[in-house]
Amino acid sequence: EKLIIAIDGPAGSGKSTTAKLLAKKLGYLYIDTGAMYRAVTLYAIKNNILNDEKKIIELASDLDIELKFEDGQTKVRVNGKDVTDEIRSLEVNQNVSPVSKIEGVRKILVQKQKEMGKNGGVVMEGRDITTVVFPNADVKIFLTASIDERARRRALEFAQKGQQVDIEKVKQNILERDRIDSSRDVSPLTKSPDAIEIDTSNLSIDQQVDLILEESKK
Ligand code: C5P
Repeated sequence: EKLIIAIDGPAGSGKSTTAKLLAKKLGYLYIDTGAMYRAVTLYAIKNNILNDEKKIIELASDLDIELKFEDGQTKVRVNGKDVTDEIRSLEVNQNVSPVSKIEGVRKILVQKQKEMGKNGGVVMEGRDITTVVFPNADVKIFLTASIDERARRRALEFAQKGQQVDIEKVKQNILERDRIDSSRDVSPLTKSPDAIEIDTSNLSIDQQVDLILEESKK
């Protein structure tokens, strides 16, 4: 049986690392929905339309966003162009939550995500997977971690790419994104009542993955 495993949680809670490894172990497809919101945001910046919701919605429906998992990372192509690194920039980090608040944008991306996961055999992670995209997923997980741990992880990711960042700034960006993501009108980031909450602050990646594997065998 091919399951749908849905994972939500705030920035830096360990979603992508966990989801990736879990998908690998199960031979499932890993789907990073944040990458899709980031891709729309990147092109809204490029087209200079951040202040025009209507145009951003048009953009979301026009862009051909392709996610492909290769060499341990999600390669993101937009209209054929590789934007894997560009969508992780600080500028995108700063603008992605306001773009993700737009109802029309969410409608379009949620539709695509439902299509991508409908046959099962997927680990999908984001902010509204357990609540909106797949409320009937076989396994529903909500990952959390302390703010200091989350900031430390994000700063480490930047450092691994050779980018030195101020951890205080990373922390502020995470807190600001969490605030907007949790307070928006449309599908805010929230723990679904039937999702299993896992605090990853003091867990290793293997421990996180094993806990979810246990759940998927129930
Ligand atoms: O997961 P990641 O941190 O890359 O997500 C970037 C942003 O995309 C989030 O801060 C949130 O604003 C938005 N997002 C969302 N719904 C999802 C996934 C991401 O609103 N399912």
